[in-house]
Amino acid sequence: MLIVKKFGGSSVANKERIFNVAKRCIEDYRAGHDVVVVLSAMGDTTDDLIALANTINPNAKKRELDMLLTTGEQVSVSLMAMAMQALDVPAVSLNAFQVMMHSTSRYGNARFKRVDTERIMHELDSRKIVIVTGFQGVNKYDDITTLGRGGSDTTAVALAAVLHADKCEIYTDVDGVFTADPRVVKTAKKLDAVTYDEMLELASLGAKVLHNRSVEMAKKYSVKMEVRSSIHSDVPGTIVKEVCKVEKMLIKGVALDNDVTRISVIEVPDQPGIAFRIFSALAASKINVDIILQSVGREGTKDISFTVSTAHKDAAMQIAEAFCQTVGGKEVNFNDNVAKVSIVGAGMLSNPGVAATMFEALGENNINISMISTSEIKISVLIEKEQGKKAVNAIHDAFAL
Ligand code: ADP
Ligand code: ASP
Ligand code: MG
Repeated sequence: MLIVKKFGGSSVANKERIFNVAKRCIEDYRAGHDVVVVLSAMGDTTDDLIALANTINPNAKKRELDMLLTTGEQVSVSLMAMAMQALDVPAVSLNAFQVMMHSTSRYGNARFKRVDTERIMHELDSRKIVIVTGFQGVNKYDDITTLGRGGSDTTAVALAAVLHADKCEIYTDVDGVFTADPRVVKTAKKLDAVTYDEMLELASLGAKVLHNRSVEMAKKYSVKMEVRSSIHSDVPGTIVKEVCKVEKMLIKGVALDNDVTRISVIEVPDQPGIAFRIFSALAASKINVDIILQSVGREGTKDISFTVSTAHKDAAMQIAEAFCQTVGGKEVNFNDNVAKVSIVGAGMLSNPGVAATMFEALGENNINISMISTSEIKISVLIEKEQGKKAVNAIHDAFAL
């Protein structure tokens, strides 16, 4: 079997944990399997590097940031190879250049385009454990890129896809995917299985246990993923796959996203084509818009509100202000003190009671909803940030997850 095993930052945070991971990989290796290991940077290294960059230049170019951040993964893979070698097992560490993991050119948010397999296959053929840096790619300018925070999961899935791995195991600091973040909801339950579509929604809506693009890619290339604990080795994790046994549970999970800003353009003309103008301008700048709310027209004007990720706040505000001026709107305002709480599960719209239950739970806890968006697989609401944890718990209880 060929197994891709990915370990997150907390799993390789210190010497003991590095050796612990090394031993677990060696077990598979000794059982005769081909083992490819993908690692994140140790502990909080990536955060620390970002903070360090900010002390030098808060407006650092993304290219340089990527150059800096990717050093974190290079430290962990080389130390892991040394640990395995210390345990008398042949191992080799490789970065994105050595593997040739080609990505798009967008620094800080690159996507894989093509990943070569020759080097890894060659190393596996000579019976080495291959340890690859997560989170990084190489663009057409031969510059190093990063895939966005949490991107090591996507490196693991990409390698599992091109190497036709038998499985892709994502080891982390919790036992699997839960009905809500187990650090926020004490009663959250571990799911035995979740479909790609449900997991993609959960991850996109803030459940950071998996990078959303890793799930997208796993679905596209039918990579079987398993999310497992790097601490409790005998506890089964959560399988992510195409179809799951139909369970009684309609709602799979509750997700909280604190990385949200609401922007409103007030009193713009209530005319055809107005929404198109602002949203096409946002799209042209590659800014993803999430929840959209347009007020009913009154006296020939209307308000348009939308949410973006807080990282895009400044760029989106600039676009909104320029739009407001051109169309003769009144003003633009924003609120980044908001959070998005979502429930995910198949068949949301065909079960009308679901939305009612969610809103009732929020109402009973005095949590005001400022925006709502629904789809067949999720319902999201925008609330005040400080009520986020309370809201997740209230909704989790209401659905008796
Ligand atoms: P790693 O460094 O291993 O990639 P992450 O911090 O990226 O770990 O992801 C694991 C974390 O995801 C957990 O510690 C947990 O707090 C959080 N999390 C959020 N939502 C969920 C969920 N639904 N199930 C499990 N963990 C979740
Ligand atoms: N080290 C990177 C980060 O902290 C990538 C990852 O952990 O997946 O975002
Ligand atoms: Mg992660």
